[in-house]
Amino acid sequence: MKYAIYSKKKDEISLNLIDEIKHGIKLEYDEKNPDIVITVGGDGTFIRAVHNYIDNLCNIVFFGIKTGHLGFYSNYTKENINELVDRINNNNFEIENHDLVKWECNGKSGYSLNEITIVNPCATQIVDVYIDKEKFETVRGTGLCICTTNGSTAYNKSLGGPVVDPKLGCLILSEMASINSNAYRSLNSSLVLSNNHKLELVSKNAMYLTSDHLKYEIEGENTIVCYLSDKKVKSGTNKSSIFIDRIKKSFL
Ligand code: NAP
Ligand code: MN
Repeated sequence: MKYAIYSKKKDEISLNLIDEIKHGIKLEYDEKNPDIVITVGGDGTFIRAVHNYIDNLCNIVFFGIKTGHLGFYSNYTKENINELVDRINNNNFEIENHDLVKWECNGKSGYSLNEITIVNPCATQIVDVYIDKEKFETVRGTGLCICTTNGSTAYNKSLGGPVVDPKLGCLILSEMASINSNAYRSLNSSLVLSNNHKLELVSKNAMYLTSDHLKYEIEGENTIVCYLSDKKVKSGTNKSSIFIDRIKKSFL
């Protein structure tokens, strides 16, 4: 077994934590081919680590240590770092699987742990939404957000979308500032879809496609296909990763 630490943080607390982990863990350090990846930072750091190892996800278990406020993916803290080190040294942890959205657009493709969005910051974005090849609606507005259950507490929540228990494994489509009038009509509620549906979003004008923290500029009319992937992100859990508890501690 080999491990790596993934962090962008250069502050004293993070550097000390990284030092402590390196002293505690008895496995060989290998950034190229790790079996375990420990992220030090926040949810953003965890997401970046997943993208960094996207081609090797089936062989890796991620552990997230947060250094700032409470994290959704990063639920270890410097207080329980010894427990984490012991668990890794003794190979004693349970694995939780996290969904990924697979997307394809204009010859590009990728995976998103939180969400993809189609965003137009200046003009009205017109998007025809097809579900399993069947036309569902046309949305006119700032854009659309398609998230996983884990992503439901991120951008989707800011849009008034539902917070969803990750055990449900579904895809959530939420609108961003859609125009609803006598002339234009869309569902204007979040749509929660079970895991085997395929969405096709025909975007009529230029827009940004975002996949988690990544941004792509898309010119002209384009179709974005997205669905829940069979590929999963594995994380090593501890007690504080219980969903309801995390929601309560983060938002209430
Ligand atoms: P960021 O601007 O630091 O992220 C915004 C906040 O979302 C941070 O507090 C981040 O936590 C938190 N976060 C990330 N994933 C989360 C999750 N699954 N549940 C609850 N909170 C979560 O940017 P970033 O760190 O690169 O994260 C990228 C994410 O930012 C995107 O995937 C998107 O969900 C989110 N975002 C939100 C908005 C919005 O709400 N209006 C707009 C753009 C992007 P940390 O501080 O621990 O990183
Ligand atoms: Mn962040």
